[in-house]
Amino acid sequence: MRALMYLGTRQMEMQDVPEPQAAPGAIVLKVGAASICGSDLHGFLGMSKKRVPPLIMGHEFTGEVIECGDGVEDLAAGDRVTINPILSCGHCEECQRGRSSICPNRTVIGIEHPGAFASYVSVPARLCFKLPDHIGDVEGSMVESLSNALHIFERSVHNQGFVKSVAIIGAGTQGLLALQIARHIGATRIAVTDLVPSRLAMAASLGATVAVNVRDTDPIQAIMEMTDGQGVDVAVEAVGHAATQEQAVEVLRQGGEAVLLGLGAASRMAIDGVMMVNKELVVRGSYAYTNLDFAYSLDLISNGKIDVASMVVARDLEQGAELFETLVDNPGDLIKVALVPGG
Ligand SMILES: [Zn+2]
Ligand SMILES: [Zn+2]
Repeated sequence: MRALMYLGTRQMEMQDVPEPQAAPGAIVLKVGAASICGSDLHGFLGMSKKRVPPLIMGHEFTGEVIECGDGVEDLAAGDRVTINPILSCGHCEECQRGRSSICPNRTVIGIEHPGAFASYVSVPARLCFKLPDHIGDVEGSMVESLSNALHIFERSVHNQGFVKSVAIIGAGTQGLLALQIARHIGATRIAVTDLVPSRLAMAASLGATVAVNVRDTDPIQAIMEMTDGQGVDVAVEAVGHAATQEQAVEVLRQGGEAVLLGLGAASRMAIDGVMMVNKELVVRGSYAYTNLDFAYSLDLISNGKIDVASMVVARDLEQGAELFETLVDNPGDLIKVALVPGG
Protein backbone atom coordinates (compact mmCIF):
# COMPACT_ATOMS: atom_id res chain seq x y z
CA MET A 1 0.00 0.00 0.00
CA ARG A 2 0.99 3.66 -0.28
CA ALA A 3 2.01 5.53 2.86
CA LEU A 4 3.39 8.97 3.67
CA MET A 5 6.43 8.09 5.75
CA TYR A 6 7.99 10.54 8.20
CA LEU A 7 11.72 9.82 8.09
CA GLY A 8 13.23 12.61 10.20
CA THR A 9 13.12 16.37 10.68
CA ARG A 10 11.56 17.89 7.54
CA GLN A 11 11.87 14.56 5.73
CA MET A 12 8.80 12.83 4.39
CA GLU A 13 8.17 10.69 1.33
CA MET A 14 5.59 8.39 -0.19
CA GLN A 15 6.61 4.74 0.10
CA ASP A 16 5.22 1.31 -0.72
CA VAL A 17 4.84 -0.64 2.52
CA PRO A 18 3.03 -3.87 3.52
CA GLU A 19 -0.68 -3.58 4.31
CA PRO A 20 -1.65 -3.93 7.99
CA GLN A 21 -3.43 -7.05 9.27
CA ALA A 22 -6.38 -7.13 11.69
CA ALA A 23 -5.16 -8.41 15.06
CA PRO A 24 -7.72 -9.81 17.53
CA GLY A 25 -10.06 -7.00 18.61
CA ALA A 26 -8.87 -4.76 15.78
CA ILE A 27 -10.07 -3.86 12.30
CA VAL A 28 -8.45 -2.75 9.07
CA LEU A 29 -9.81 0.41 7.48
CA LYS A 30 -9.52 1.62 3.92
CA VAL A 31 -8.73 5.25 4.73
CA GLY A 32 -11.31 7.76 3.49
CA ALA A 33 -9.63 10.98 4.61
CA ALA A 34 -7.02 11.96 7.20
CA SER A 35 -6.57 15.58 8.26
CA ILE A 36 -3.20 17.15 9.04
CA CYS A 37 -3.04 18.38 12.65
CA GLY A 38 -0.89 21.23 13.95
CA SER A 39 0.80 18.61 16.12
CA ASP A 40 1.76 16.66 12.98
CA LEU A 41 3.48 19.82 11.73
CA HIS A 42 5.40 20.02 15.01
CA GLY A 43 6.37 16.38 14.48
CA PHE A 44 7.53 17.15 10.92
CA LEU A 45 9.74 19.92 12.34
CA GLY A 46 11.26 17.46 14.82
CA MET A 47 9.56 19.16 17.78
CA SER A 48 7.44 16.20 18.93
CA LYS A 49 9.50 13.77 21.00
CA LYS A 50 6.79 11.12 20.83
CA ARG A 51 6.89 10.92 17.04
CA VAL A 52 9.88 8.70 16.36
CA PRO A 53 10.75 8.11 12.68
CA PRO A 54 10.10 6.10 10.61
CA LEU A 55 6.41 6.78 11.29
CA ILE A 56 3.14 7.05 9.41
CA MET A 57 1.37 9.99 11.11
CA GLY A 58 -2.33 10.83 10.87
CA HIS A 59 -4.72 10.63 13.83
CA GLU A 60 -7.78 12.56 12.53
CA PHE A 61 -9.45 10.20 10.08
CA THR A 62 -12.30 8.25 8.63
CA GLY A 63 -12.44 5.01 6.69
CA GLU A 64 -14.39 1.98 5.61
CA VAL A 65 -14.01 -1.31 7.48
CA ILE A 66 -12.58 -3.96 5.17
CA GLU A 67 -11.50 -6.62 7.68
CA CYS A 68 -12.39 -7.48 11.27
CA GLY A 69 -10.07 -9.38 13.60
CA ASP A 70 -11.22 -12.14 15.95
CA GLY A 71 -13.60 -11.00 18.64
CA VAL A 72 -14.88 -7.89 16.81
CA GLU A 73 -18.65 -8.00 17.06
CA ASP A 74 -20.08 -4.50 16.63
CA LEU A 75 -18.53 -3.75 13.26
CA ALA A 76 -18.68 -5.38 9.85
CA ALA A 77 -17.03 -4.91 6.46
CA GLY A 78 -18.54 -1.90 4.72
CA ASP A 79 -19.19 0.15 7.87
CA ARG A 80 -17.89 3.73 7.64
CA VAL A 81 -16.30 5.01 10.84
CA THR A 82 -14.28 7.80 12.40
CA ILE A 83 -11.80 7.11 15.18
CA ASN A 84 -11.01 8.47 18.61
CA PRO A 85 -7.26 7.86 18.19
CA ILE A 86 -6.39 7.97 21.90
CA LEU A 87 -5.81 4.53 23.42
CA SER A 88 -6.29 5.14 27.13
CA CYS A 89 -5.69 2.26 29.55
CA GLY A 90 -9.13 2.28 31.20
CA HIS A 91 -7.87 1.27 34.64
CA CYS A 92 -5.62 4.07 35.95
CA GLU A 93 -6.96 6.68 38.34
CA GLU A 94 -7.42 9.35 35.61
CA CYS A 95 -9.36 6.90 33.43
CA GLN A 96 -11.54 5.91 36.38
CA ARG A 97 -12.24 9.59 37.04
CA GLY A 98 -13.39 10.03 33.43
CA ARG A 99 -10.27 11.95 32.43
CA SER A 100 -8.98 9.53 29.82
CA SER A 101 -7.32 12.29 27.76
CA ILE A 102 -4.65 12.62 30.44
CA CYS A 103 -4.25 8.88 31.10
CA PRO A 104 -0.51 8.49 31.81
CA ASN A 105 -0.52 5.15 29.95
CA ARG A 106 -2.16 6.51 26.79
CA THR A 107 -0.80 5.98 23.33
CA VAL A 108 -2.17 7.49 20.12
CA ILE A 109 -2.78 6.14 16.62
CA GLY A 110 -0.48 8.12 14.30
CA ILE A 111 1.98 8.90 17.10
CA GLU A 112 2.97 5.67 18.86
CA HIS A 113 1.13 3.45 16.35
CA PRO A 114 1.01 3.67 12.52
CA GLY A 115 -1.52 6.30 11.48
CA ALA A 116 -3.80 7.10 8.58
CA PHE A 117 -1.63 8.99 6.08
CA ALA A 118 -1.78 5.74 4.12
CA SER A 119 -4.16 3.65 2.01
CA TYR A 120 -4.99 1.39 4.97
CA VAL A 121 -4.69 1.53 8.74
CA SER A 122 -5.41 -0.93 11.54
CA VAL A 123 -7.06 0.26 14.76
CA PRO A 124 -8.68 -1.37 17.80
CA ALA A 125 -12.40 -1.72 17.15
CA ARG A 126 -13.24 -0.02 20.45
CA LEU A 127 -11.96 3.33 19.08
CA CYS A 128 -14.49 3.40 16.22
CA PHE A 129 -17.57 5.62 15.96
CA LYS A 130 -19.93 4.84 13.08
CA LEU A 131 -20.42 7.69 10.61
CA PRO A 132 -23.89 8.53 9.32
CA ASP A 133 -24.19 8.08 5.54
CA HIS A 134 -24.66 11.80 4.87
CA ILE A 135 -21.34 12.78 6.46
CA GLY A 136 -18.50 12.66 3.94
CA ASP A 137 -15.02 11.41 4.76
CA VAL A 138 -13.43 14.86 4.78
CA GLU A 139 -16.06 16.31 7.11
CA GLY A 140 -15.87 13.17 9.25
CA SER A 141 -12.13 13.65 9.66
CA MET A 142 -12.93 16.94 11.47
CA VAL A 143 -14.74 15.19 14.34
CA GLU A 144 -11.43 14.78 16.19
CA SER A 145 -10.57 18.48 15.82
CA LEU A 146 -13.96 19.60 17.05
CA SER A 147 -13.65 17.25 20.05
CA ASN A 148 -10.65 19.30 21.23
CA ALA A 149 -12.66 22.51 21.04
CA LEU A 150 -15.60 20.93 22.87
CA HIS A 151 -13.34 19.72 25.66
CA ILE A 152 -12.41 23.35 26.41
CA PHE A 153 -16.00 24.17 27.32
CA GLU A 154 -17.02 20.77 28.69
CA ARG A 155 -14.51 21.21 31.49
CA SER A 156 -15.18 24.93 31.95
CA VAL A 157 -16.14 26.29 35.37
CA HIS A 158 -18.71 28.26 33.34
CA ASN A 159 -20.27 25.27 31.64
CA GLN A 160 -23.64 25.68 33.30
CA GLY A 161 -24.73 28.04 30.53
CA PHE A 162 -23.39 31.32 31.84
CA VAL A 163 -20.84 32.16 29.18
CA LYS A 164 -21.73 35.57 27.79
CA SER A 165 -18.41 36.69 26.45
CA VAL A 166 -15.44 34.82 25.04
CA ALA A 167 -12.05 35.87 23.69
CA ILE A 168 -10.29 33.50 21.33
CA ILE A 169 -6.62 34.13 20.78
CA GLY A 170 -5.48 32.52 17.54
CA ALA A 171 -7.79 31.78 14.58
CA GLY A 172 -6.37 28.47 13.41
CA THR A 173 -8.49 25.33 13.30
CA GLN A 174 -8.95 25.18 17.07
CA GLY A 175 -9.69 28.89 17.42
CA LEU A 176 -12.31 28.82 14.66
CA LEU A 177 -13.94 25.70 16.11
CA ALA A 178 -13.90 27.18 19.63
CA LEU A 179 -15.61 30.26 18.18
CA GLN A 180 -18.39 28.07 16.81
CA ILE A 181 -18.80 26.17 20.09
CA ALA A 182 -18.93 29.47 21.98
CA ARG A 183 -21.77 30.62 19.71
CA HIS A 184 -23.48 27.26 20.05
CA ILE A 185 -23.53 27.47 23.85
CA GLY A 186 -24.95 30.97 23.72
CA ALA A 187 -22.08 33.45 24.06
CA THR A 188 -23.22 36.79 22.68
CA ARG A 189 -19.88 38.59 22.45
CA ILE A 190 -16.94 36.77 20.94
CA ALA A 191 -13.62 38.38 20.01
CA VAL A 192 -11.10 36.52 17.86
CA THR A 193 -7.52 37.69 17.40
CA ASP A 194 -4.90 36.65 14.84
CA LEU A 195 -2.28 38.00 12.44
CA VAL A 196 -3.61 36.50 9.21
CA PRO A 197 -6.34 38.49 7.39
CA SER A 198 -7.92 35.44 5.71
CA ARG A 199 -8.32 33.68 9.06
CA LEU A 200 -9.87 36.77 10.59
CA ALA A 201 -12.24 37.02 7.62
CA MET A 202 -13.25 33.42 8.28
CA ALA A 203 -13.78 34.24 11.97
CA ALA A 204 -16.03 37.14 10.99
CA SER A 205 -18.02 34.97 8.60
CA LEU A 206 -18.44 32.34 11.33
CA GLY A 207 -19.98 34.92 13.63
CA ALA A 208 -17.22 36.62 15.63
CA THR A 209 -18.42 39.89 17.15
CA VAL A 210 -15.01 41.41 16.52
CA ALA A 211 -12.08 40.00 14.55
CA VAL A 212 -8.92 41.76 15.69
CA ASN A 213 -5.74 41.91 13.64
CA VAL A 214 -3.02 42.20 16.27
CA ARG A 215 -0.63 43.69 13.70
CA ASP A 216 -2.44 46.99 13.84
CA THR A 217 -4.77 46.79 16.87
CA ASP A 218 -4.07 46.22 20.56
CA PRO A 219 -6.00 43.00 21.29
CA ILE A 220 -6.48 43.70 25.01
CA GLN A 221 -7.95 47.12 24.31
CA ALA A 222 -10.22 45.71 21.60
CA ILE A 223 -11.50 42.93 23.88
CA MET A 224 -12.09 45.37 26.74
CA GLU A 225 -14.04 47.66 24.39
CA MET A 226 -16.19 44.74 23.23
CA THR A 227 -17.14 44.02 26.85
CA ASP A 228 -17.63 47.67 27.97
CA GLY A 229 -14.45 47.48 30.02
CA GLN A 230 -15.48 44.34 31.93
CA GLY A 231 -13.38 41.63 30.30
CA VAL A 232 -14.57 38.21 29.16
CA ASP A 233 -15.94 35.18 31.02
CA VAL A 234 -13.70 32.76 29.14
CA ALA A 235 -10.50 33.36 27.16
CA VAL A 236 -9.20 30.54 24.97
CA GLU A 237 -5.52 30.61 24.08
CA ALA A 238 -4.96 28.64 20.87
CA VAL A 239 -1.45 29.76 19.98
CA GLY A 240 0.95 28.41 22.61
CA HIS A 241 3.22 31.39 23.35
CA ALA A 242 3.83 32.98 26.74
CA ALA A 243 2.82 36.43 25.45
CA THR A 244 -0.57 35.25 24.19
CA GLN A 245 -1.13 33.11 27.30
CA GLU A 246 -0.59 36.24 29.38
CA GLN A 247 -3.08 38.12 27.18
CA ALA A 248 -5.65 35.42 27.89
CA VAL A 249 -5.38 36.17 31.61
CA GLU A 250 -5.28 39.97 31.13
CA VAL A 251 -8.61 40.07 29.29
CA LEU A 252 -10.63 38.17 31.93
CA ARG A 253 -13.48 39.70 33.88
CA GLN A 254 -13.88 39.02 37.62
CA GLY A 255 -14.24 35.26 38.12
CA GLY A 256 -13.13 34.65 34.55
CA GLU A 257 -11.35 31.61 33.22
CA ALA A 258 -8.38 31.36 30.87
CA VAL A 259 -8.06 28.05 29.05
CA LEU A 260 -4.70 27.22 27.50
CA LEU A 261 -4.92 24.92 24.51
CA GLY A 262 -2.09 25.97 22.21
CA LEU A 263 1.08 23.91 22.26
CA GLY A 264 3.92 25.96 20.82
CA ALA A 265 7.54 25.82 21.83
CA ALA A 266 8.30 25.81 25.56
CA SER A 267 6.60 28.73 27.27
CA ARG A 268 6.71 30.15 30.77
CA MET A 269 4.01 32.71 31.41
CA ALA A 270 3.97 35.42 34.07
CA ILE A 271 0.73 35.96 35.99
CA ASP A 272 -0.08 38.88 38.28
CA GLY A 273 -0.79 36.92 41.46
CA VAL A 274 -2.55 39.79 43.20
CA MET A 275 -4.91 40.25 40.26
CA MET A 276 -5.54 36.49 40.18
CA VAL A 277 -6.58 36.49 43.84
CA ASN A 278 -8.60 39.69 43.73
CA LYS A 279 -10.54 38.67 40.64
CA GLU A 280 -10.79 34.96 41.61
CA LEU A 281 -9.41 34.01 38.21
CA VAL A 282 -9.09 30.44 36.95
CA VAL A 283 -6.23 29.45 34.64
CA ARG A 284 -6.14 25.90 33.34
CA GLY A 285 -5.04 23.73 30.45
CA SER A 286 -7.19 21.68 28.11
CA TYR A 287 -5.71 18.58 26.52
CA ALA A 288 -7.36 16.51 23.80
CA TYR A 289 -10.81 15.04 24.60
CA THR A 290 -12.73 12.14 26.08
CA ASN A 291 -15.18 9.74 24.44
CA LEU A 292 -17.97 12.01 25.67
CA ASP A 293 -16.52 14.98 23.76
CA PHE A 294 -15.96 12.77 20.73
CA ALA A 295 -19.52 11.46 20.63
CA TYR A 296 -20.96 14.95 21.09
CA SER A 297 -18.66 16.34 18.39
CA LEU A 298 -19.87 13.71 15.93
CA ASP A 299 -23.45 14.54 16.84
CA LEU A 300 -22.96 18.28 16.29
CA ILE A 301 -21.36 17.73 12.88
CA SER A 302 -23.96 15.13 11.88
CA ASN A 303 -26.74 17.57 12.68
CA GLY A 304 -25.17 20.50 10.86
CA LYS A 305 -24.73 22.57 14.02
CA ILE A 306 -21.07 23.32 13.35
CA ASP A 307 -19.63 24.30 9.98
CA VAL A 308 -16.48 22.28 9.45
CA ALA A 309 -16.74 21.98 5.66
CA SER A 310 -15.66 25.59 4.98
CA MET A 311 -12.48 25.18 7.01
CA VAL A 312 -11.01 22.10 5.34
CA VAL A 313 -9.80 21.31 1.83
CA ALA A 314 -9.12 17.83 0.40
CA ARG A 315 -5.83 16.98 -1.28
CA ASP A 316 -4.38 13.79 -2.74
CA LEU A 317 -2.30 11.82 -0.25
CA GLU A 318 0.42 11.57 -2.93
CA GLN A 319 1.01 15.34 -2.47
CA GLY A 320 1.39 14.91 1.29
CA ALA A 321 5.10 15.68 1.58
CA GLU A 322 4.77 18.94 -0.39
CA LEU A 323 1.73 19.92 1.66
CA PHE A 324 3.63 19.53 4.91
CA GLU A 325 6.29 21.91 3.51
CA THR A 326 3.62 24.37 2.44
CA LEU A 327 1.75 24.29 5.75
CA VAL A 328 4.95 24.86 7.69
CA ASP A 329 6.51 27.56 5.48
CA ASN A 330 3.71 29.33 3.69
CA PRO A 331 0.17 28.17 4.52
CA GLY A 332 -1.48 31.20 2.88
CA ASP A 333 -5.23 30.75 3.10
CA LEU A 334 -5.05 27.06 4.04
CA ILE A 335 -6.49 26.33 7.48
CA LYS A 336 -7.00 22.57 7.48
CA VAL A 337 -5.94 20.02 4.86
CA ALA A 338 -7.36 16.50 4.63
CA LEU A 339 -5.28 13.92 2.74
CA VAL A 340 -7.33 11.53 0.62
CA PRO A 341 -5.73 8.32 -0.71
CA GLY A 342 -6.22 8.02 -4.45
CA GLY A 343 -8.03 11.33 -4.47
ZN1 LIG B 1 -4.81 16.46 16.26
ZN1 LIG C 1 -5.57 5.26 32.06
